[in-house]
Amino acid sequence: MIACVAFIYVRFSFGAECWSSSACIDAVVCAAKGGIPQKNLCSGAANIQCCSCANCMNATLCTSRGGIPSTGICPGSSTNQCCNMASTSVPIGDKTPVKRMLTDLADILRNAGLEVVEVDGWTTRGHGQMTSVKSIICHHTAGAAKGDFPSLSVVRDGRTGAKPVSGPLAQLGLGRTGKWYVIAAGISYHAGVVTDNSVFGNSNSIGIEAEATGLPLKYTGHDHWPEVQYQSYIRGVKALQAAYGVPTARVVGHKEVAAPLGRKPDPNFPMDEFRTALEE
Ligand SMILES: [Zn+2]
Repeated sequence: MIACVAFIYVRFSFGAECWSSSACIDAVVCAAKGGIPQKNLCSGAANIQCCSCANCMNATLCTSRGGIPSTGICPGSSTNQCCNMASTSVPIGDKTPVKRMLTDLADILRNAGLEVVEVDGWTTRGHGQMTSVKSIICHHTAGAAKGDFPSLSVVRDGRTGAKPVSGPLAQLGLGRTGKWYVIAAGISYHAGVVTDNSVFGNSNSIGIEAEATGLPLKYTGHDHWPEVQYQSYIRGVKALQAAYGVPTARVVGHKEVAAPLGRKPDPNFPMDEFRTALEE
């Protein structure tokens, strides 16, 4: 009898389903499209959530109003798209995405009261100009256990070995003392394959490599990080958000957007806690 009641309960609790199976997508991607992710309505991993949009409209109308339309999370015809008005503040410098080098990075951080080291040649370093700054991706270096920013040469010059990657590997480095290293103003190879290249790809996102061993791989809180470094991480990201108009939903951990999901573990602190701090 108890088993039977339990069975009925289970059936009912799974009765609620997402409005469309194709709207079951990664929660971070959903937020980046201007949608609202809801838990417990989709099968699969916890990050796969039911994405719905409160602002569906014709894509052309959306653009004419200054929004950015995204496909896949509105019902009906493919021209009915989620209109993300928040995205209008995303592009760098101007109202529309402008290709340029981010030569203002050092000043943005310094003006936020942070200590900044300008690494020689940073203003012209990069794999070309940035297309836009739609997101900020937080990483850890998984580097040496001692020193402020022992990963500097790797992040600046790249990795050799079996799978070589040419530098720069991130625009910014963050030392254990909370000091920021401005390494490159252009595109940096930090993101790799991501869930949505138009938002999180290298040409649309700033990469920050914070010095840390990255061990233990998973734990709650940030108690393995020096407090001065963690607080500087928050302060620096806030300053970058304000300068480039990046909403907090688009401040993500590499582990949240690297595809396939699970490919990257960094950074090894909870991003929800980090994002909450950005809003305080
Ligand atoms: Zn990473």
